[in-house]
Amino acid sequence: MSSQESRRLSDDYEVDDVLGRGGFSVVRRGISKLDGNKNQVAIKTLKRFGYTPPGMPRTRMGEGGFASMGLPMWKQVTISDALLTNEIIVMRKIVEDVSPHPNVIHLYDVYEDSNGVHLILELCSGGELFDRIVAQARYSEAEAAAVVRQIASALGALHKANIVHRDLKPENCLFLNSSSSSPLKIMDFGLSSVEDFTDPIVGLFGSIDYVSPEALSQGRISSASDMWSLGVIMYILLSGYPPFHATSNREKQKLILAGEFSFYEYSWKSISSSAKQLISSLLTVDPQRRPTAQEILSHPWVIGDSAKQDLMDSEVVSRLQSFNARRKFRAAAIASVWSATMFLRTKKLRTLLGSHDLSPGELENLRMNFKKICANGDNATLSEFEE
Ligand code: ATP
Repeated sequence: MSSQESRRLSDDYEVDDVLGRGGFSVVRRGISKLDGNKNQVAIKTLKRFGYTPPGMPRTRMGEGGFASMGLPMWKQVTISDALLTNEIIVMRKIVEDVSPHPNVIHLYDVYEDSNGVHLILELCSGGELFDRIVAQARYSEAEAAAVVRQIASALGALHKANIVHRDLKPENCLFLNSSSSSPLKIMDFGLSSVEDFTDPIVGLFGSIDYVSPEALSQGRISSASDMWSLGVIMYILLSGYPPFHATSNREKQKLILAGEFSFYEYSWKSISSSAKQLISSLLTVDPQRRPTAQEILSHPWVIGDSAKQDLMDSEVVSRLQSFNARRKFRAAAIASVWSATMFLRTKKLRTLLGSHDLSPGELENLRMNFKKICANGDNATLSEFEE
């Protein structure tokens, strides 16, 4: 086996345009130089920060790293301890116990260098779930059911392997390609786990739209929490707006904890009762009473029997368009402030103030942006930033 250190990413892949950025990563298109096949892949680089955000799971492997996981020879690489993130461990478990699954992103390889760890992933060029839906003028319940079926199928396989996604949301569901029959792929296992555990980061960043009551109240997350998130996605797919709607995160949190949502007459009157029954069962506060992924795969609405074939009201798409646009704006703001926060923390705020790295004006700008984002609820992160 060639050692990980002797395998260089640039020898095996041509690294092309940026496909997207996450709080801890950058994803680029890659073209394989191996065997002259020129296959396209997505290269997700988990950057070296030397900083662990509050509550972020940083699972570490003991001696031997991946070599002890019984993986095929080429996958028996040792990633330095500090870089062994949860995402890599979960992706490895997926390679071992789940792949290939048509609705779970496939990991082909892993490289490590001074920039960080590079995950060589299946390229999904078909866009995010909601982006594709809002590009259509209208769609049917049956099409929404096909989406729910694919997510449930992926969750069924992951849960069987004791993997809980924990961050299921439409942005983490991408179409493989642009054809109308393209499979939908679940990705981003950065917050996933191979067991239930307590998670203090839930609700600190980003939207709590998809977060289950048990995650909010006790930070306890299990496979049933993924089913709650699927219930929220299904509600949005059929109405264009989220089930728990409030002007502040604090209010939204109360609604989620109480499982308080409605099927408003104006937008739900023509939706099948089978769909509403399924949503209600998924959005049950008691996680034990929610159906499992395996169970819903035989639900009449999910298999398409009771899902209406006729197109839904065009209002659903226009509402989804505004919801999606707001969500994207918020995500972009959070991503930029979050990376800036990490940058500031690693460099030490006070040193920075006196250096050329960041002017006081730029710093104030960041502070104001951060304040706006925190204004909706949690101020813990703001006070940490201001320390
Ligand atoms: P974080 O890592 O902080 O949770 P994230 O979930 O937004 O952030 P990543 O998984 O790092 O992000 O992905 C960033 C963006 O890159 C995604 O929004 C997506 O648009 C794009 N992307 C990620 N994986 C792929 C892929 N396999 N194929 C195509 N595009 C991808």
